[in-house]
Amino acid sequence: LQATITTDCERRMLKALDRLGVKAQLVSSTGNNIVVVQSDVSTMPTHMFSQIDGVAKVVRLAPTCPLVTDGELSTVTVQIGSTDNGRGGTTVSIGNGEPRAVIAGPCSVESLEQFLNIAEAVKESGATMLRGGAFKPRTSPYEFAGLGKEALAYLSEAKKLTGLPVVSEIMSVRQLELSIEHIDVLQIGARNMYNYELLKEAGLTGKPVLLKRSMSATVDEFLHAAEYILVTGNENVILCERGIRTFEPRLRNTLDLSCVALLKATTNLPVLVDPSHATGRRDLVRSMSRAAIAAGADGLLIEVHMEPEKSISDAEQAITPRELALIVDDSRAISEALNLVIETATARAGGLGSKLMSACP
Ligand code: PEP
Ligand code: MN
Repeated sequence: LQATITTDCERRMLKALDRLGVKAQLVSSTGNNIVVVQSDVSTMPTHMFSQIDGVAKVVRLAPTCPLVTDGELSTVTVQIGSTDNGRGGTTVSIGNGEPRAVIAGPCSVESLEQFLNIAEAVKESGATMLRGGAFKPRTSPYEFAGLGKEALAYLSEAKKLTGLPVVSEIMSVRQLELSIEHIDVLQIGARNMYNYELLKEAGLTGKPVLLKRSMSATVDEFLHAAEYILVTGNENVILCERGIRTFEPRLRNTLDLSCVALLKATTNLPVLVDPSHATGRRDLVRSMSRAAIAAGADGLLIEVHMEPEKSISDAEQAITPRELALIVDDSRAISEALNLVIETATARAGGLGSKLMSACP
């Protein structure tokens, strides 16, 4: 409230809040007049409060994306079932202390032969899911934009062959409809994180959605995009940090690992890191993968190709299946080391606790 306010204005303001169905209480402290709102107003726009006569500033203490931050932290595990693969299928879990998920495959599906070869190779390297772009968002309209529908059939073939679930990007509701029977996880890419209609439609399918952070999105915008999916009743949302644009021109993007730690500390959703798009350089993918797992990521999304330099799209960042195998081993080793440190610390704290207990009869 404004520092000096008449009792009449106070009364009118509380009345205005009451009309909105909001419970509030007036508190005066060190010369400031503060109205504490006790009701859940997370879904009410801020301007409904700021436009009330006498209000100088609105400060929210609770988040405006309640579903993303609901419940305990990092507790959601997304189960991904590979359907219709003729082999009984594999179920993969992402999040909440499950073994680290590694989603790997080429940037684009280039041909049936290429995709089946790479699918088998990445499975052999320890990947838990396949990726491959059928519809590609490209900066220039003259660049290869994916094989489209034809690629969707190849994704299904690869799923049959390996039993691994597949992830692929959709950029429109029409592509979503075409893809739905072929893919297990709908990827919404950086360029479409702000496409709210697409987020809602993807949410309504009930399928797991892998949501990538836009290259220029704040964490708050990212979380609200996830909220759009969750509010449809679909709880299967996986967040993915893929690098943001900064002033640094030497790398394709800047991998924001503090965002990963922040997401793990403030949301209940699984978090992946894409070190391929984050760096744009194959020689940096392994070290950034290690750093991502150490920062708490639940898994990785990596571009892999049998002959990386011949990739039709994103050739500079593709790695070989052999390098992927090293990353899978690194991820396991780092996760185990971190768990060991946590167990040791807990055991030490327990020992200390019992010593203190015995010192206090
Ligand atoms: C991708 O994963 O293929 C992709 C296009 O990534 P992004 O949306 O992060 O650019
Ligand atoms: Mn790519």
